Amino acid sequence: MNRLQLIAPDRSSVNLNYESLTIKRYDFDHLLLEQAIRAGTLVLQGTKIVDFIEEKGAIVGVRAKTHDGKEVIIRSDLTVLATGAATPLIKKAHLLETPLPSAFAVRAYHHGELNGFSGQLTIFYERALLPGYAWIFPLGPEVYNIGCSVFLDNVTGRQTPNLRSVFNSFLIRLAASNPSLDLKQLNTSLKGAPLRTGLTGSRLYGDGIMAVGESIGVTYPLTGEGIGKSLESAEVAAEVITEAVYQGDFSSHFLLKYKFLMGARFGRRYRSYASAQRWAKYPFILNFVSDRVRKNVVLRRRIESILDEKQDPTEIFSLWGLVKAFACC
Ligand SMILES: Cc1cc2nc3c(=O)[nH]c(=O)nc-3n(C[C@H](O)[C@H](O)[C@H](O)COP(=O)(O)OP(=O)(O)OC[C@H]3O[C@@H](n4cnc5c(N)ncnc54)[C@H](O)[C@@H]3O)c2cc1C
Repeated sequence: MNRLQLIAPDRSSVNLNYESLTIKRYDFDHLLLEQAIRAGTLVLQGTKIVDFIEEKGAIVGVRAKTHDGKEVIIRSDLTVLATGAATPLIKKAHLLETPLPSAFAVRAYHHGELNGFSGQLTIFYERALLPGYAWIFPLGPEVYNIGCSVFLDNVTGRQTPNLRSVFNSFLIRLAASNPSLDLKQLNTSLKGAPLRTGLTGSRLYGDGIMAVGESIGVTYPLTGEGIGKSLESAEVAAEVITEAVYQGDFSSHFLLKYKFLMGARFGRRYRSYASAQRWAKYPFILNFVSDRVRKNVVLRRRIESILDEKQDPTEIFSLWGLVKAFACC
C-alpha cells in the first residue's frame, strides 16, 4: 500500500504518501519461523519455558515443559529472553523493573468489503483513546485488520478507558456506514494483549541472559509499532552475542555492551516518541496539526518523513514543532 489516511478527533482527514506492507500476524510469524529453521534453529513447538536454571548468580539454562507435560532441561552459555510483554519470565530472570504494561491493544479481522478503506491504511484519533487510536488496515482483497490501542497514563492519572467498550462503540459507528460489518463475527476473532513501550520497564541483560523485543519494551510510544523494533533489537543482540561467543565471556560485565549499543542507536528515538505521545493526548493539538498539514505541503512531507522514521516526531509534536507549524501557514 502507498497511502495513509489520518482522521483527527474533529473528523477532518489528511491523506499522506506512506509505503507499507500488511499481513496477518499468523502468516508473518510463520514466515519468520521458516526463516529461522532454514538458518539452523531447532524449534520445540508447544514447549513452554517454566523457569531458569541459575548457578553462582548466573543464568545457565532453562527448565521447560512439553505440550504433553514432559520436563525438558536446556543448558546454555547464554539465554535470550524473547517472550514479549508477559512479565512472569522477565521477573524470574531478575530483569523486571516495572510490572505494569504501558498500553493495551485489541484487533479483529473483518472478512468482506468496507466502503472507502481498501488500498490504504486508516488511523482514527478517537477522543476516548488519545494518545492511542483505532485503525483499519486492509490485509488483502476483502480482509481487514480493525483494532485500537490505549496507552496507560501514569503521569496524569487519567482513568484508562475500557478498551473493549471503546472498540465496540467504534465498530457500531463504522457499521452505520458499512452494513457488511458483522459485529458478532468480529467479536469472535477479537484478540488483545498488553504492550511494553519506550525501551523502559526491564533491564536488557544480566549474567548469562539477554532480553529482546517487547520484553524490554521496544515497542514505540505514540504509534505502538513493535514488530520491526523487536527484530532490530534481536539484530543488535546477535552482534553482541557473536562477540561474546568469540571472547567466551557471557558475564553481565561483557553484555553491558548491548545496553550501550541499544541506547546509542535507538535511545533518542524512544525519548522523542515518548515526548510526542505526551502532546498527542490533546485533541485540539491533533485537530490543529491536521488542519495545518492539510493546507501545507511542507508540513505534509515532514509528517511523511516522520512516518518513514527519517525524521523525529518532535519536529511536529513539541512546543517548537507546533510553533513552526503555526508559522508555516
Ligand atoms: C492488537 C495488537 C496489534 C498490534 N499491531 C501491530 C502492528 O500493526 N505493527 C507493529 O509493528 N506492532 C504491532 N503490535 C505490537 C507487536 O505485536 C509487538 O510489539 C511484537 O509482537 C513484539 O514482538 P516479540 O517477539 O517481542 O513478542 P511476541 O510477539 O509477544 O512474542 C513472544 C512469544 O513468546 C512466547 N512465549 C511467552 N511466554 C513463553 C514461555 N513461557 N515459554 C515459551 N514461549 C513463550 C509467546 O507465545 C509468543 O509467541 C500490536 C500489538 C497488539 C497487541
